[in-house]
Amino acid sequence: MNIRKETLEHWTAEDSAELYGIRNWGNGYFDVNEQGELVVSPYQGNNAPSVSLLNVVNGIKDRGMNMPVLLRVSNILDSQIRLLHSSFRKAIKQTGYKGVYKGVFPIKVNQQQQVIEEIVRFGKEFHHGLEAGSKAELIAALGTLRDRDACLVCNGYKDEEFIDLALYACKLGFQCIMVVEMIGELPLIIERSRALNIKPLIGLRMKLSTRASGQWAESGGDRSVFGLNTAELIEMVDLLRKEEMLDCLRLLHYHIGSQISNIRDIRAGVLEASRVYVGLVQEGATMGFLDLGGGLAVDYDGSHTNYHQSRNYTLDEYCVDVIDTVAETLTENGVAHPTIITESGRATISYCSVLLFNILDVTRFEPSSIPDTIPEDAHEMTKDLMVILKNLNQKNLQECFHDAIYYRDELRILFKNGRISLRERGLAENAFWHIMVLINKLVKKLKYVPDEFEGLDNALADIYYGNFSVFQSLPDAWAIKQLFPIMPVHRLNERPVRNAIISDITCDCDGKIEQFVDLHDERRTLPLHELRENEEYYLAAFLVGAYQETLGDLHNLLGDTNVVSISISPEEGRFEINRELEGDSVADVLSYVEYNPQALLDSFKQNAERAVREKMITAAERKGIMTAFEDGLRGYTYFER
Ligand SMILES: *Cc1c(COP(=O)(O)O)cnc(C)c1O
Repeated sequence: MNIRKETLEHWTAEDSAELYGIRNWGNGYFDVNEQGELVVSPYQGNNAPSVSLLNVVNGIKDRGMNMPVLLRVSNILDSQIRLLHSSFRKAIKQTGYKGVYKGVFPIKVNQQQQVIEEIVRFGKEFHHGLEAGSKAELIAALGTLRDRDACLVCNGYKDEEFIDLALYACKLGFQCIMVVEMIGELPLIIERSRALNIKPLIGLRMKLSTRASGQWAESGGDRSVFGLNTAELIEMVDLLRKEEMLDCLRLLHYHIGSQISNIRDIRAGVLEASRVYVGLVQEGATMGFLDLGGGLAVDYDGSHTNYHQSRNYTLDEYCVDVIDTVAETLTENGVAHPTIITESGRATISYCSVLLFNILDVTRFEPSSIPDTIPEDAHEMTKDLMVILKNLNQKNLQECFHDAIYYRDELRILFKNGRISLRERGLAENAFWHIMVLINKLVKKLKYVPDEFEGLDNALADIYYGNFSVFQSLPDAWAIKQLFPIMPVHRLNERPVRNAIISDITCDCDGKIEQFVDLHDERRTLPLHELRENEEYYLAAFLVGAYQETLGDLHNLLGDTNVVSISISPEEGRFEINRELEGDSVADVLSYVEYNPQALLDSFKQNAERAVREKMITAAERKGIMTAFEDGLRGYTYFER
């Protein structure tokens, strides 16, 4: 009865929007249309143009590229940089702050050349700079940045080569600031600047006593591995004074961690840093820059809370709180307002990337049917399971649940001791799962669901096999249980009738996703549609632009996915493909782990020739086999239809 009623009820794209929470986490960039397709709308506002993601998928496929594809929407990156600067400008105006804001993008968050190039291009108008944490990142920055009014902040441990490069950048007119992370770096910076006769721009990274809660709490606070404590900070000032270089000390930096979900932690950090800034000015340092690091969070689950996968503040609130706190502390002490720098990585880049993948197959959890009669000589406990199955109802379901588990476990022991047959164990296990399916249905009708039933939905969920690798494309989903919103890109005006978890195509039992975004806590299964014969079913994972590409690895030798960068035209429904990057071929990934594809081919050829010699195959068959091997080497590492 219930199922009939449900299917008869009308389901619209609006219902899907609500179910998947797209307007909670989409930041205005993603929505659904009346045709039940997911749409991307790169600029916020009412009449902003939008494009159906299904059309994008089809456009990519028509051009001959296969799923999975990492899609980058350039205009979203543009929009995020714009929003950051306009929010800070608004806050500066509103509070009467006397300094300016300049952002830098921390390269480590997404080092891809195309991405850094776009950030530099879109950021030019706002003098948005870069942050480098290593020599390689500094070289990438110096080779990309043109705007001398943008800042180039160098964090990380610096050797002579790193220091020299940063000094040369200053000589070329860049605002390249070397941030001292360890007191021991300072003598070398002084020595090299004397040797090259270039005046350095020096910053210092401090350890705040403020600690933020959340995943990256250890990045800040007294226990953080980076930065100077107060005693070292004074030591540094004294050394610079002795060398008559206090005028080179220009910037104070701190970073209390990524994804700071509570605005109170942000405020506390800024307040402490502002006080230290005042102290440094009072010590006679020239200063001029206050760099608040990263930490601006992304609302992955859309709950607008201080849950670690969310944030309890808006961008505007962040900017006002930061500017207000700095202004108040400095004005109070008669110190000039500095240029504020933030190093927002995650918040800048997350939204613009979407992982698109197709579903290859589904395993349903459906126990096979139970015979009407069971053997006379079956064990008592097997018979007991059958009785439970027959008598189960809403009132006794908790008792039945406990009994079923007890009998199942006892029967397993009996089997191990050779007391029941394999066939009987099969029957008992099957009956057990029938009971669980029934219980799960009844549980749904309870007003209050006891904790012990919580895992049941998950245990009975369908498994949808997605054509991607968690380890390559969503490594944080595995490593730190990061949530990424996932939903179908089409069929959104149909009711999703299955509950699923998603497995990838690595043969690793960790290669799955079974935590999904929800306004309240997290959900263990994702509602999805039934697969249709001869029709692809596409899902998308959102907010994957930060950290995932670089952290991804070659588990099971599944390589980089295809990458397609689009920009959405002002004309409704149209988009252009800016760039395509073909993903790794099998030969590519093999060479990463030091194989020589040509040598593999030669060696395999010898196997084939030996088979010809031994008359196992004909010469013509050898040709076919060799072609298959060569095609395999050239092919995509993911499943191709
Ligand atoms: C990682 C890092 C960032 C970026 O942090 P987000 O939270 O991604 O904005 C900024 N600054 C430093 C020093 C970092 O290590």
